[in-house]
Amino acid sequence: MDGTFVPWKDANVHVMSHALHYGTAAFEGIRAYPSGRQMYVFRLPEHLKRLVNSCKIFGFDLKYSVEEMRKATVETVKRNDLHEKCYVRPLVYIGFGGMGINFTGFPVHMAVLAYPFEKYFKGDGVAAMVSTWRRTSDQTGSPLAKISGQYTNSVLGKMEAVKHGFDECILLDLQGRVSEGSGENIFLVEDGKLVTPSVASSILEGITRFSVIKIAADMGIATVERDVSRSELYVADEVFFSGTAAEITPITSVDRRNVSDRKEGPITAKIRAAYMKAVAGEDPRYTPWLTAVY
Ligand code: PMP
Repeated sequence: MDGTFVPWKDANVHVMSHALHYGTAAFEGIRAYPSGRQMYVFRLPEHLKRLVNSCKIFGFDLKYSVEEMRKATVETVKRNDLHEKCYVRPLVYIGFGGMGINFTGFPVHMAVLAYPFEKYFKGDGVAAMVSTWRRTSDQTGSPLAKISGQYTNSVLGKMEAVKHGFDECILLDLQGRVSEGSGENIFLVEDGKLVTPSVASSILEGITRFSVIKIAADMGIATVERDVSRSELYVADEVFFSGTAAEITPITSVDRRNVSDRKEGPITAKIRAAYMKAVAGEDPRYTPWLTAVY
């Protein structure tokens, strides 16, 4: 926190923190994976770039350089002596400088935390529902920015889905096109090709999404980025989520309509296997994506 390592129990913030009242925090969700005695942080520069961009969009004055944040992230994994699959969260947040929306002159804090984290979704496939909520649009916020306050949109979608007995929601954009999950991008498999909503459909530009597109291309599987309509979800050959926490997760039903016989489809399985090899440093083509911890 703010440049020093503090024990878990002391990692607290004041209740008057601006971020707690108004959602003014920018964050990242990163994973680190074991490979023998080594640990690799996956696509750290890309995550830090997105964090910088989130801060830029919302006007948070970041106090640390990308290099300092890179070191702090790696060091947090190391100091926790982590040797298993884990999650790493850098968080930039506006602290206490008074009451009111205007945070000019308020302190901008930064923390990085890391903890063991195996699987985001339980089971081998998820049941998704199309949410009654729409994904935050660029007219009312910024889909490209990972800002805590904006995650109330994801929370509405996720909690609605869970209350209705689903695992996850799929949010449409304001125009009714498919956008993404509460914390994942979405891909469809149609006639052996991948189809995924473009950045114009209010998505967060997922780093896993970019990785999937590259891994698929290297396998000779093309990806089309285009508008996706809701009913395509019902008839696609396969549908899956991509995200740092969710990794590659098959969607086995949408609105109670079965997808690929409620099993993981063959293309999803191929991409998932290749992704898991990439993150663990088992494919030399993708080792430039990894930052070694030890
Ligand atoms: N969309 C949203 C809303 C998310 O929160 C996330 C998770 N960061 C993603 C997509 C996937 O992004 P990434 O692959 O970079 O984790």
